[in-house]
Amino acid sequence: MAQTAAEMPREFPKDASASVVAQHAATLKALPFSDVRDFDDAARGFLGTIENAKITSPQGRVVWSLEPYGFLSQAEAPATVNPSLWRQSRLNMNHGLFEVVPGVYQVRGLDIANMTLIEGDSGVIVVDTLTSIEGARAAMELYMKHRGSRPVAAVIFTHTHTDHWGGARGVLDDAALAGGEVPIIAPNFFMEHAVSENIIAGPAMLRRAQYQFGPFLSKGVRGQVDCGLGKSMAAGAVALLRPSDLIIATGDKRVIDGVEFEFQMAPNSEAPAEMHFYVPRYKLLNLAENCTHNFHNLLPFRGADVRDALAWSKYLNEALKMWSGKAEAMCGQHHWPVWGRDRVDTMIRQQRDLYKFAHDQTVRLMNHGLTAAEIAETIRLPQSLDAAWHARGYYGHIRHNVKAIYQKYLGWYDANPVNLDPLPPVQAGIKYVEYMGGSEAILARARKDFAKGEFRFVAQALSHLVFAEPDNSAARAMLADTFEQLGYAAESSTWRNAYLFGAQELRQGMPKAPPRPPIPRETLAALRTEQLWDVLGVRLNGPKAEGKHVVLNWSFTDTGETFVLRLENSALTYTEGMQAEVADASFSLARATLDEVLAKQTTFPDAIAAGRIEVDGDPARLAELMALMDEFPRMFEIVEPKRILPS
Ligand SMILES: [Zn+2]
Repeated sequence: MAQTAAEMPREFPKDASASVVAQHAATLKALPFSDVRDFDDAARGFLGTIENAKITSPQGRVVWSLEPYGFLSQAEAPATVNPSLWRQSRLNMNHGLFEVVPGVYQVRGLDIANMTLIEGDSGVIVVDTLTSIEGARAAMELYMKHRGSRPVAAVIFTHTHTDHWGGARGVLDDAALAGGEVPIIAPNFFMEHAVSENIIAGPAMLRRAQYQFGPFLSKGVRGQVDCGLGKSMAAGAVALLRPSDLIIATGDKRVIDGVEFEFQMAPNSEAPAEMHFYVPRYKLLNLAENCTHNFHNLLPFRGADVRDALAWSKYLNEALKMWSGKAEAMCGQHHWPVWGRDRVDTMIRQQRDLYKFAHDQTVRLMNHGLTAAEIAETIRLPQSLDAAWHARGYYGHIRHNVKAIYQKYLGWYDANPVNLDPLPPVQAGIKYVEYMGGSEAILARARKDFAKGEFRFVAQALSHLVFAEPDNSAARAMLADTFEQLGYAAESSTWRNAYLFGAQELRQGMPKAPPRPPIPRETLAALRTEQLWDVLGVRLNGPKAEGKHVVLNWSFTDTGETFVLRLENSALTYTEGMQAEVADASFSLARATLDEVLAKQTTFPDAIAAGRIEVDGDPARLAELMALMDEFPRMFEIVEPKRILPS
């Protein structure tokens, strides 16, 4: 049922409804649009750029381009985009090389994230390396073009998210890596978290990320306009480099190429391993991704470990304690810098209080007995924060961040037993439709409420109908129209992307995507062996494994590790540092061989046949175990019933 854009009926996407237009008019009155300092700051220090920020791979594939966003040159927001989000989307159009202070530069708008370049006595220290190797290479060329050729004195990774390290190989070439003299500095536990956050739940997370970022939406006033933090996800090649120097404690210092850096640890804030730093020579503070020009996510829609709002706020307070009154410029690894001691101070204080307010007021209301949905409906930022542009929810949003805080303390259950064991969407949908008098009765009521702008409930009611009758085209169309209006109204880019992509999938079906590629071998190589067993464990099909009992000994010739891998009770468990006395088979191999098998570059039987795995016992038991492993689909239904339900 998937259609291409060209086949899509002309009437889509639709116009904004009168109620959305009225809401935008109110937003224009309520927010301080006459304050344009952000536009000055985002353009300040501009030195030059690449036309349209267009970056192509050696094979000619476009990995990044702002050309499709040319429609954002229009100052006035169209009716189909929230004016506050339109403003942020325009700010994120600034691209090129910018001077932060003499000696410190940033490449912005060539990726969702920034690269910060700090000049030392003879070289340059590169802070974060963008998402892709192609992007990082283009950023370095742009920097050298304007600042001259300088050797890379060090690379610093501020935290574990891919948009901050994926392009490292575009900064450090083979020669630089072979010499091993360029330090790669990162926060403690960087490797553990850089690869682990998305691995176990990767297949589900990647599909959900399509709803968060909107890569399959067309770009335009009725489509994707921004991601809040920047324009979009970058494509291109990614490779992880192992840090050579870990920062362990707040107050740790390094002198790199003659420049002193003072570090502050901020674990479990925006990322599980993250750090801030201050450079006295330049009076420059860098708060990584914890003090950006939007309310960040405490739990992104793609799914993640919930973040600690209280700790986040405390780190910002600690940064004030350490460096307030010293820093004359503050930059982050997204968005634009802020200059002047007072403005730096004000922004950090407001961001500190934003996370503290959200945390404390959520917990207060929670302790009064309100549930997550009730808290989201009740909570309002104080006027002083609500009117601060950088506190607005372009990426995270107060209305979903409070649910993350609730989840952190109390979990998914709201304590009302009605929600303890509810019918799942299809069965519930069928009963709702029956109780509500059938599909025609629902559609008639929904049409009236749609005209009144009651989109939130219309979406809820129609979703029941779509889950009961997924082939009811009138229901699908009307739910799509409803999602679309919710998307046009949303201030948060992630809400907009989610609603508009939901509408698109109801109208056109899921985009066609090639099968999910295996986990890259380099990524597997970066995981600890226990993590590989964990990756395997979540693929075990429990029902198929019913009644099976397999015990396998593993011995890794290069790492010296030994494991017993045991399947019983439909659960795959492992014990390190042991060999079972009674095992079905024992295997001796290099760790890299296991990486290759899991990356689907070889199979256990082939590696055994090639003499790369020594076997004692019955190798057929391993084949039996591997036959119980599921393959995960790349795409699965979200706004409608699953066509194929796994067993
Ligand atoms: Zn980032």
